[in-house]
Amino acid sequence: MAERSVVIVGGGLVGSLAACYFAKRGWKVDLYEKRQDVRQPEHSCLVEHRSINLAISERGFSALRRLDPLLEARVRELAIPMHGRMIHALDGKQTSQAYDVFGKHINSVGRNALIRVLLDAADSYSWVTLHFRHELVDVDFDARRATLRNAETGHQLDSSADLIVGADGAYSRVRQRMMTKVMMNYSQTYIEHGYCEFSMAPINDAFAMDPNHLHIWPRGSFMLIALPNPDKSFTCTLFMPWRQFDQIKTGDEAVGFFRANFPDALDLMGEKSMCAEYARNPKGSLVYVKCTPHTYKNCAVILGDAAHAMVPFYGQGMNCGFEDVEKLDEIMLATLQASGSESTETTQLTDEQLLSALDEYSATRAADTDAIVDLALDNYVEMRSSVISYSYLLRKQLEGILHRLFPTFVIPLYTMVSFTSIPYAAVIRQWNRQTLWLHRSIYAATATAVLGAGLISAQLLGLRMPALNQVARIFSHNY
Ligand code: FAD
Repeated sequence: MAERSVVIVGGGLVGSLAACYFAKRGWKVDLYEKRQDVRQPEHSCLVEHRSINLAISERGFSALRRLDPLLEARVRELAIPMHGRMIHALDGKQTSQAYDVFGKHINSVGRNALIRVLLDAADSYSWVTLHFRHELVDVDFDARRATLRNAETGHQLDSSADLIVGADGAYSRVRQRMMTKVMMNYSQTYIEHGYCEFSMAPINDAFAMDPNHLHIWPRGSFMLIALPNPDKSFTCTLFMPWRQFDQIKTGDEAVGFFRANFPDALDLMGEKSMCAEYARNPKGSLVYVKCTPHTYKNCAVILGDAAHAMVPFYGQGMNCGFEDVEKLDEIMLATLQASGSESTETTQLTDEQLLSALDEYSATRAADTDAIVDLALDNYVEMRSSVISYSYLLRKQLEGILHRLFPTFVIPLYTMVSFTSIPYAAVIRQWNRQTLWLHRSIYAATATAVLGAGLISAQLLGLRMPALNQVARIFSHNY
């Protein structure tokens, strides 16, 4: 077996999945994570400024399946299906909106539970070493060397490998260093909204609301959402402009705000618990990042949020990061097999082949990750306001009917993003085509209806309208 090694920086969701993939393909893996090991009981509640649970859908499952179908099954066991959105009106009325006409659904899974499964899977390979409390300080890509600081001892150490993978999140240091080596186009944008999480405890040992929905309280410029947890609680997240967060300074003001906007949720959370959490829980910012390329020569690649952080409104950040890992593996394997090799060990790639695989990955992936970053932004407007507009509901109904009749020709946007692996950029192209045809059909139907009504009225009134009568004659001859 060819000796090839990889240093992975970041042991979050994407870094730990990447460790499993590289290990499966025979690479010696060293993973460095600056935080503690979340699998240790005393560190199990460590979720710094991030959602406690998240939605996993087809792209995420597909990446797990390719690695190991048993791993996918294990994650499915941990997950709670959410078949649709439950829209909560101000008067407490709840309306269910199914995600898909064929019953496909997304799933709520605990962030730490998922990381634990992935770290255990990575740990099961004897050629993987997980180093916790090791923070990346610097990288010398051309020397293929990462410098890390051990938080326990304060000592610095160097770690060398054939490939350096940056899976160190939205504020990636690997990406920062890469920018000094390549002409990277890069943008980072904060949206004007932040978020704060709350818990909704079970009532009489049962879920306080229907557990098989993602609950939304859309209120125009802000919204509250809730996802179920296996312990029968919900994690609720308030997304709101910072200026509104700033206006709520006291517990009474928080209660007043919730009472005015989310009275049913407040009753289920309890005023005391909501107030305590509003005061105690961190308010997170929401940032999106686009950059290209994602690679440097055959030395380094960035994956997950490090390459494409996005706002969380499509529930795709992690799913897309998992898909990155799957796509990279597909390309590396295809490059190896195109050279005539039947091996599945990508350690066999020559330096030139590795370069060509990384170039291809970066060239193809950036368009897709940019596309989902944009889609995620658009979906915020949909979640916080469109979901209750008549035009949105009408289009949803119409698309549902057409999708049922022509499942491969008309596919709702949400279905393409969440329940298929159609590349994100192709999703946008198909959506634009569908929108064009839908608009043309609506215009044609409206024009036909108006013309028909005109003809009928003219006939009924016995009006002498030569032009209309001429049209009527043509129609009556042809049909
Ligand atoms: P991260 O999760 O940020 O992990 C990076 C890791 O690198 C961390 O463990 C960090 O400690 C480590 N690290 C950072 N710097 C260093 C360093 N210098 N040295 C060593 N280690 C380092 N996505 C979905 O798919 N579905 C959802 O429903 C969803 N909901 C979300 C809700 C919210 C409120 C937010 C904020 C995000 C949500 N996301 C969701 C997005 C998802 O959380 C991210 O896309 C995902 O966590 C990205 O994983 P990652 O491993 O790339 O980065």
